Amino acid sequence: MTLDSIINEINNAKTLVILTHMNPDGDAIGSSLALYCSLLKLKKDVDVIVPEHSSIYNFLPRINDLKKEPTKEQYDIAIALDCGDIKRLNGFSESFENAKCKISIDHHEINTMFADYNFVNPASPACAQILITVIEALGVEIDNEIGTCLLTGILTDTGGFKYPATSAETFEFTAELLRKGVKVSDIYKRVLQTISKKRFELRKVAINRLELLENGKIAFTYITNKDMETVEAEEGDHEGIVDIGRDIEGVEVSIFLKETEDGTYKISLRSNEYVNVADIALLFNGGGHIRAAGGSITGTIEQSKERLVAECKKHLK
Ligand code: 5GP
Ligand code: MN
Repeated sequence: MTLDSIINEINNAKTLVILTHMNPDGDAIGSSLALYCSLLKLKKDVDVIVPEHSSIYNFLPRINDLKKEPTKEQYDIAIALDCGDIKRLNGFSESFENAKCKISIDHHEINTMFADYNFVNPASPACAQILITVIEALGVEIDNEIGTCLLTGILTDTGGFKYPATSAETFEFTAELLRKGVKVSDIYKRVLQTISKKRFELRKVAINRLELLENGKIAFTYITNKDMETVEAEEGDHEGIVDIGRDIEGVEVSIFLKETEDGTYKISLRSNEYVNVADIALLFNGGGHIRAAGGSITGTIEQSKERLVAECKKHLK
């Protein structure tokens, strides 16, 4: 079994590196730190690489241990977390490929199975939830620190327990954490509720230009680099904007574009009931889940909007 082989490989390894996807969200960072804390308990020599992240996650245990890049030429094991495609490994795909053993633990619908051992469950609402099984199989007790990291991943990827992939196990695990004294409500507030003033300003910009298209079935908005400068937004402050469009009554697909440093646009797609946005994202060099996916596009806002709306339109009822 894949899990047995993974546990065996980890037990036999001395040096490990944990990698995750670019533009890391709560699941990417929470999963990375949870596994990092677990491997430290097993006295492993482990690096966890996350070059940049939103300051929202600064409260997480061991956040200051995150490294900007790998410190070794070659590791015994590289573990990719929450990443469906090796190209999204933050530019560290070479470091991943160089490792003697390559492991991927993930929950994306679209996963290219790029590792030696792929422990992938698209039915799981978060990579962090898959990690519960892995950490327990390693014989590590999930303490408050590890629990806090895992819960952060679960909360962000389930939208606070509200997305359909949220399972009985999600609640059972959360209940267990509550009994252990983990401050579930505090973590919820930090990662899902409170927003900085700058983030609020950025949302205002996006809301003001949000358009409803195709009889209100498609919501479209965007953020440019200039907007980011104007409101002095921080890395990750655009997160959550795509959900604003999705939450409007009658909207099936929400499209959000965020300009990147090289002037291309990062696409975020969300759907409500029936459009498989992972399939649409595949047409734009991306992937993801059926109700949440992303990719990238070059061209002006108008051109990009036209191309994306045309693709989404094909899937509307
Ligand atoms: P978000 O819109 O929050 O950036 O991403 C939504 C989901 O799609 C996440 O699970 C994310 O990992 C995935 N995703 C976003 N962008 C890409 C991409 O460019 N390629 C792939 N393969 N997945 C992506
Ligand atoms: Mn995830």
